[in-house]
Amino acid sequence: MRSRADAERLDAEDPLAAFRERFVLPKVIYLDGNSLGAQPVATRDRIAALSEQWATGLVRGWDEWLDAPRRAGDAVAAVIGAHPGEVICTDSVTVNLYKLAAAVHTDGAIVAQRRAFPTDRYVLEGLAEARGAELRLAAGEPDLDGAGLVVWSHVDYRSGEIADLPGITWRCREAGVPLIWDLCHSAGALPVDLATHGAELAVGCTYKYLNAGPGSPAFLYVAHARQAQLRSPIWGWFAQRDQFDMERAYDPQPGIERFLAGTPPILAVAAVEEGARLTAEAGMTALRAKSVALVELLIECLPDAVALASPSDPARRGSHVAVRHPDAERLTAQLIEADVIPDFRTPDVIRLAVTPLYTRFVDVWDAMDRLRALLPPS
Ligand SMILES: *Cc1c(COP(=O)(O)O)cnc(C)c1O
Repeated sequence: MRSRADAERLDAEDPLAAFRERFVLPKVIYLDGNSLGAQPVATRDRIAALSEQWATGLVRGWDEWLDAPRRAGDAVAAVIGAHPGEVICTDSVTVNLYKLAAAVHTDGAIVAQRRAFPTDRYVLEGLAEARGAELRLAAGEPDLDGAGLVVWSHVDYRSGEIADLPGITWRCREAGVPLIWDLCHSAGALPVDLATHGAELAVGCTYKYLNAGPGSPAFLYVAHARQAQLRSPIWGWFAQRDQFDMERAYDPQPGIERFLAGTPPILAVAAVEEGARLTAEAGMTALRAKSVALVELLIECLPDAVALASPSDPARRGSHVAVRHPDAERLTAQLIEADVIPDFRTPDVIRLAVTPLYTRFVDVWDAMDRLRALLPPS
């Protein structure tokens, strides 16, 4: 096993090391950036400036704020391999998934993963019930026979396993079945390359690896080629062409703005723009390389008493790993007391996330050292 000095050397050679100073970080080892990312310094400053703009400029601020969801969307597009004008920052993942699913599903079965994140499953259960459609929950790859919609997570929220995005996208296209990717655990964690692989629809979180803060709005992606044909099931005034010409019948904007609904949370939207820009500045290729190296060190240093519950092949893992132990809940609480913050998922899983913008190799080494100290000697 590598020593702490080896971890220090990896930090000294890390080309992304300086990005850590761009965050406001308390004195803890934070391994939960896949639940809530840390606060960038630029975001703290931007929110302070916006607060001042609100205080002094009042309603005049809207001249600048109206385009904010599109600007933040363009910043996210740079991180997920989409083109400018294909991403909008609005609402939650739950609401965006509903909007896209309801827009593209006409008939046929709705197919999702059995282990999908609960909110994704609930949205699809509700839609299937309203439409009288079958909801098919798949254990493995999606079965496209009779399917009218597939919703798939790129990175599994529990195990961190990466789905075959190019392969599933190609199969759905060949079969003519609309496919929505959920990028919650991949946006900012690994390269996604939506356009390269021909993926046309996606939703994802911004408060995880994009570090935009609690409750920051999600993103919604529709490839240019599909935008004009699709209508959000929620007809809101922010989607309307000539929004302030208020007496006209509903006629949605031609571009991605047609997926807006009501007034966007401007402070939080600005935080998405800052978080995504910082990620793009570091570059997804460099971030992925460091993430893989951090996770490799973590797995190498795992105490024998905990079992890896994530794929052992680095190419099939995202930026977190799940480990199992019968006392996982107690161990998680004890780690937090020892200033190491992971998270616990019932019944016996500890999730350990590395966030290459601010996690150091010594953080990973020290966290595993503290975990080992909590376990009986093997
Ligand atoms: C975090 C997460 C969500 C969160 O949805 P919200 O509506 O933004 O709360 C949804 N799906 C997946 C897969 C997630 O990991």
